[in-house]
Order: sequence, then structure tokens, then C-alpha cells
Amino acid sequence: MTEASGRHQWRGVIEEYRELLAIPVDTPAITLGEGGTPLVRSGWLSEAGDAEVWLKVEGANPTGSFKDRGMTTAISVAVHEGAKACVCASTGNTSASMAAYAARAGITPIVLVPEGKIAAGKMAQALVHGAQVIQVRGNFDDCLNLSRGLAEHYPVALVNSVNPNRLEGQKTASFEVVDRLGDAPDVHLMPVGNAGNISAYWLGYTQYRDHTTKLPRMRAFQAEGAAPIVYDRVFPAPETRASAIRIGNPASWKLATAAAEESGGGFAALSDDAILHAQAELARNEGVFVEPASAAGVAGYLADLAAGTSYAGQTVVITVTGHGLKDTVTALEWFGEVTPVVVDADLDAAARAADLV
Ligand SMILES: *Cc1c(COP(=O)(O)O)cnc(C)c1O
Repeated sequence: MTEASGRHQWRGVIEEYRELLAIPVDTPAITLGEGGTPLVRSGWLSEAGDAEVWLKVEGANPTGSFKDRGMTTAISVAVHEGAKACVCASTGNTSASMAAYAARAGITPIVLVPEGKIAAGKMAQALVHGAQVIQVRGNFDDCLNLSRGLAEHYPVALVNSVNPNRLEGQKTASFEVVDRLGDAPDVHLMPVGNAGNISAYWLGYTQYRDHTTKLPRMRAFQAEGAAPIVYDRVFPAPETRASAIRIGNPASWKLATAAAEESGGGFAALSDDAILHAQAELARNEGVFVEPASAAGVAGYLADLAAGTSYAGQTVVITVTGHGLKDTVTALEWFGEVTPVVVDADLDAAARAADLV
């Protein structure tokens, strides 16, 4: 096979950052070109806080969420070690990503999801990529326990973020932020569910310390109905419209609180209304359509400003974690009843309907 002359083609996070990843040196990369996602300046949010606000748009990854960063490393190592099947528990995006990378690798993906709780787009991805999708009467935490059990007793590789290879891939997002900004930001805001991602970002920033003059404060947000870290108690029945962060007992709880504390940051909870409002405003004001959970960092920034926290003069990065097309049902519900505008194929009628006359 000849190498295409794509000199400027991004090679995926393993080949771009291999020497910084704690995976076996000779692991062949199973990649879909993940990472290298846009860092988009937000004029709207910058003005709102008299700050310099950037969005790390992770919905631009191959399967539409940041999960691809950790899946390329987890699946590559699993295959290198001889795995023929892989398993994960998922609120949706992990299964979508795992199914795609398993298809790429030619191994069997097995997915455990809470019954009836998965956004349609994510379910479609897992099925179309050929996953064996098993719906569990229970919540995400039950699914994770089952996945651990299957991996322990049967020849399948567990690729949830309790697999350390996941965090190795996910930490590359911090490297990219620093490579693009020339330094770490003053503050990094993001949503938290199972808490793997914030742990990975912190790992990335601390490991990249010789490229930066500072470390960012890690400011993290959970939904009111699924806020175990904020309130320091397990939520046995987590509930939120932001399904990607509907988790009551985060696997990386300790790592996440350590990241927040060591960095001088912290956790806060947000109402679903605040999250969905931020999602809609972000789409309208910036052209960035994210899924509900992904808007939690933006909602948190706005809530902080409203509560009197100053971000003035600071460089702020907000990770928006997944694409809005994943869950169009929730996005459209927020609009309420949308009356279709229908006209005859007539110029005047179209102009009137568009409020141009
Ligand atoms: C997985 C996910 C999260 C939560 O990330 P954790 O690592 O579980 O904290 C947030 N948003 C989206 C879109 C996700 O897919």
C-alpha cells in the first residue's frame, strides 16, 4: 500500500503524540483520524465576561464526541494484546465510539446501555457499526458493573474509562489546547459525568508542564439531578436531560476531585434548564451545535458570571464534548411546538414568509 501524499493530514492522536502516551511503544494505531479538533474563539462569551473564551469543539471528532480520543488508544492496545471482542457500558457516546473503532479493527463490539435511555443518534451509531447492543434494566452504573463482570469472566476487553489507556488518549486534548494557544489557559471549564475526561485533561496539562507557564484551574459542572461529586454522595437514580452526564457514581471520582483541588478549581451543579438554554444560545450565537451535556461548561460559565465570579482578563477554554446531531429530539423539544411554514412555489409568498417585505 502506498502512503497518500497527504502531508498536511492530521494523523490521529496516537501518531501525533505517541512519545507522550503511556502505551506499549510498538502498539499499531487503530485510528479514524481523531483529535486535531477546532479551538474556536467565542466572541459572545468573551464579551460577556470581558475574557478571552475559546471553545474546544470535540463534536468534530470522527464519531461526534471526545470519546474517540480514548477509544483509539484503548482499542489499539486491546487488539495489540490479542483481543477479539470488546465491551463497554455507555450513556451512548462511548458505545458509538467503541463500535466504530471495533469495526475498524475487525473485532466484536458488545455494548451495555440503560434501557430506553440512549439518544437515538448514538444508538444508531452503535447498531450501524455492528455492535451487539444489550439494553439493561438499570442505570449506567449497573451497566458498568456488568461490563466489568463480563471482562473478568469472559475473553473480552473492557474499554470504559476505568481502562487507563482511555485517559492516555483523552489527555491529548490538553496538548492540543496548549499547542494552539501557546500556553495553558487560566481556567478550563467542562461537563463531568463519569469523570474520566476531567481527570485526563488534568493529566495532560500536568504532563505538558514544560510547554506552559501555568496550570489552569479546572472548573467542572454536573447536572442538578446527577451531581454526586458536587454533593459528595452517590445518586442512586440520577436524572437529567443531559443524558451523557446522567451518572450517579463516577468511576474516576477521586481523580476528578484531586484535579479540581490541586488546580484551585472546583465543582458546581446546574439545572437542566440552564444547560438546555446554554445549548440553544450557543447554537444561535456561535454556530456551534452541541448535545445537551456538552453545553454544561458554557452554562456553568454563564452561571458563574451571573453569580458575580469574574473571568475578566483571563484566557478561558470550554470543552464542548459532543455534537448536537446526537440528540435532536431533546434539542427540538426545547423549542416547544414548531409550526411549519408552508407556502406555494411563489416568490412573493416566500418573501412574505421570510419577513423580507
Ligand atoms: C462522556 C461524555 C461526557 C462526560 O465525560 P466523563 O468523562 O464521563 O466525565 C460529557 N459529554 C459528552 C458528550 C460525553 O459523551
